[in-house]
Amino acid sequence: MEFVISEMEREPIDFDLELAPGAVDLGEEAEQQGPLATSGSAEVIHEHRGPKDIVADIRLRGSFRGLFQVPCARCVEPVSIPLAADFDLIFRPAAADAEAAERSITAPETEIGYYLNDSLALEDVLREQVLLSLPVRTLCKPDCKGLCPRCGINRNCQTCSCQVGPSDLRWTALAGLRDRIEFKN
Ligand SMILES: [Zn+2]
Ligand SMILES: [Zn+2]
Repeated sequence: MEFVISEMEREPIDFDLELAPGAVDLGEEAEQQGPLATSGSAEVIHEHRGPKDIVADIRLRGSFRGLFQVPCARCVEPVSIPLAADFDLIFRPAAADAEAAERSITAPETEIGYYLNDSLALEDVLREQVLLSLPVRTLCKPDCKGLCPRCGINRNCQTCSCQVGPSDLRWTALAGLRDRIEFKN
C-alpha cells in the first residue's frame, strides 16, 4: 500500500489490512507465517521552516501483529514467535534535510525516516518495524543443546558418541574428518 502525498493532503488515510506472506520482504532474518495484520492512519504534517519553506512530513501511526519464524540461535531449527508492536513515525521528503544534515551533523533527529518521490510504501515501513521488534537471540527452548561441534547433529533429537572436551576442541576439525573416513570404510 502506497501513501501518496497529494491524497493525504485531502484527508488522512486510514488502513486496516492483512498482508500475505511475501508482501513484506523480510530477507533472511525472519519468515512470515500466515497473515500480517496491520492498521492505522497516515497524514501529512506541514513543517513551516520559513515563509516559503514548507516541508510536507508524513506521520504514520499504527500497529501490526503476526507470526514469524526465525532460526534457533543454537540448533538453527525454525522457531515460531508471535510479534506485535505499535508505531508512531515521521517521514520527511528525502531532499528536505540534505542541506541541514551538512550544517549540523549532530542533529538529535535520528528517529526521523525519509520518503522519496512523494509517496511512502507501508510494506517498507513494516519491514523495518518487524525486524526491529525481533528478539536479539531466539532459542527453540531454554535448554537447547545445540549442534555437536564435531559431527553437526542436532543434540536435541540425537545422541552422538563424540566426546568434546576443552582439550579436544583443537582436534575437532581433524577428528571430524577422521570419523567420516572411518565411516566410509
Ligand atoms: Zn534450538
Ligand atoms: Zn557429535
